[in-house]
Amino acid sequence: MSKRDYYEVLGVSRDVDQKELKKAYRKLAMKYHPDRNPDDKDADAKFKEATEAYEVLGDAQKRQAYDQFGHAGVDGQAGGGFGGGAGGANFSDIFGDVFGDIFGGGGGGRGGPQRGSDLRYTLELTLEEAVRGIEKKIRIPTLASCETCDGTGAKPGTKPKTCTTCNGAGQVRMQQGFFSVQQTCPSCRGQGTMIDDPCTSCHGRGVKEETKTLSVKIPPGVDTGDRIRLAGEGEAGAMGGPAGDLYVQVSVREHNLFHRDGRNLYCDVPISIVDAALGGELEVPTLDGRVKLKIPAETQSGKLFRLRGKGVTPVRGGPAGDLLCRVQVETPVNLTSEQKDLLMKFQESLTGEKHSPQKKSWFEGVKKFFEDI
Ligand SMILES: [Zn+2]
Ligand SMILES: [Zn+2]
Repeated sequence: MSKRDYYEVLGVSRDVDQKELKKAYRKLAMKYHPDRNPDDKDADAKFKEATEAYEVLGDAQKRQAYDQFGHAGVDGQAGGGFGGGAGGANFSDIFGDVFGDIFGGGGGGRGGPQRGSDLRYTLELTLEEAVRGIEKKIRIPTLASCETCDGTGAKPGTKPKTCTTCNGAGQVRMQQGFFSVQQTCPSCRGQGTMIDDPCTSCHGRGVKEETKTLSVKIPPGVDTGDRIRLAGEGEAGAMGGPAGDLYVQVSVREHNLFHRDGRNLYCDVPISIVDAALGGELEVPTLDGRVKLKIPAETQSGKLFRLRGKGVTPVRGGPAGDLLCRVQVETPVNLTSEQKDLLMKFQESLTGEKHSPQKKSWFEGVKKFFEDI
């Protein structure tokens, strides 16, 4: 039997976003849900087909594989509805997500293997590290099985006993409207067992917090807000479920010389009033070392000079950006009386407004402003 196209199954276009996708699946799942269609084989098949399609398209990685290779790219990965194994665990997440509001509290129907939570780690980088890429060791907290009790949570020599509320099933059935709803057992919280004598070293949790060291490869060109996914390095799964993922979120520290805006870098360069007036050559810093920058005569404060290709090569590809040097003309300070005299003489030598390119239009602007009021 050849499988139908997943997009066709859910009745969505190929560029559908996650929100619309979930909506489409939800609609079909509500319609064909086994609780609503008891003993209807056709509805059951449709429910499973839609669930399988959503399992693939709802997962960015699987969706990409499916878009590229079709069913061959994802076969054996999707759990096929209520099936067991990793697919089943994955399904319980989708289930909680989509049906959370009907089943009340989001936790409905759990109790089997649970995928661990995704974790986020914020990694601070210097601008140089972000631009050039680097391999970083990070230490993250993790939950490891308790050695004292072998992960059972019970004091050594004792055993967890079967929960009397759910007889070990971890779930209880409840009637809610015309739905018969499975809910996590409130007595044992889905564990199926109760512990009378908790292990003292993990307080009955069966797990202990430890730290693990991971090596993270940061590609060149990353910026604040970029994240790197480390599959399976998140929180450990419960009851045999797979671990979640770890997302390393990049945060680039402010640099004392350069300000980054996307692929471009900005840098303020102070120049003397003499260099600004007569022109000159300055040495400016770039991330690859010093370069010479020619300043033409009559340069005004705030003017930007572009050094092509001296910015950042973006992590997603494309050409390197530019370094933009903004010159700041400095007012001389700590002048001797002799220097002050020279400046006074210089001032007297100035005639009319021809030496001040902005003064005239500025004064005219001020005059007009007061006339208009
Ligand atoms: Zn323990
Ligand atoms: Zn129970």
